Amino acid sequence: MLLEVDGLVKRYKTKDRKVVEAVKGIGFSLEAGRILAFLGPNGAGKTTTIKMIAGLINPDEGDVTVNGYSVSGKPKEALREIGAVLEGSRNLYWRLTPLENFEYWAGIRGVSRKVARERGRELMSELGLENKLGSTVQQLSRGMQQQVAICAALIHTPSLLLLDEPTLGLDLDASDRIQEYVLKLAHERGVGIVLTTHQMEIAQALADYVSIIQSGTLTLEGLKSEVLERYAGRSYLFELG
Ligand code: ATP
Repeated sequence: MLLEVDGLVKRYKTKDRKVVEAVKGIGFSLEAGRILAFLGPNGAGKTTTIKMIAGLINPDEGDVTVNGYSVSGKPKEALREIGAVLEGSRNLYWRLTPLENFEYWAGIRGVSRKVARERGRELMSELGLENKLGSTVQQLSRGMQQQVAICAALIHTPSLLLLDEPTLGLDLDASDRIQEYVLKLAHERGVGIVLTTHQMEIAQALADYVSIIQSGTLTLEGLKSEVLERYAGRSYLFELG
């Protein structure tokens, strides 16, 4: 199994010293080449779950294993298997060019600068962005920035890609391109993908499996067709009540 997630719990302390249990024991598994969408309203715990899988924050309880490597303790072997794009393309340095960003991430993930440049050019041209390699990220449109962020996350050829709200706030053209690319990565190249969204139509367009997350708990999970038919005709999950 590509990804195994077992009993994840995350508690945050608020400023007034209360404890909020943002994720209350989430577990699932995902095979290579499949797309799982976490669908849930704002504050449901989607971002927290993605960050724990990526090794960006530590769970209070539970375990994440990618291709047999445990993410806890963040060993290089596990991080080499994972690429992550958080909401707002936060894996990019905005004053650097895409190529410089790729070199930076390659360094972190143990890939040579030469390989990063070659692979970066290849990924960018797959998205039709080969002429943007030398612009700074801040000069690019929001949609292009998000595509560059996805290329940066793929620079070390991870087997698992994590995408937090990948098309949120983007223009239709960029959103379509990203959706097409995500499908290609999973179904033609065998990358396993976990994405979060609060939009039913994104889950409908991309997912093989859908997990509904509400108040830090998975309330329904399964094949997209099984899960989404329960919510037919509604475009946002928070309309469910
Ligand atoms: P959104 O789409 O709004 O980001 P989400 O489903 O991704 O929602 P999370 O961001 O994971 O949800 O947040 C889950 C809960 O944890 C929320 O109640 C949120 O306020 C709380 N939370 C998240 N990060 C922190 C933090 N650093 N400190 C305290 N509470 C937090």
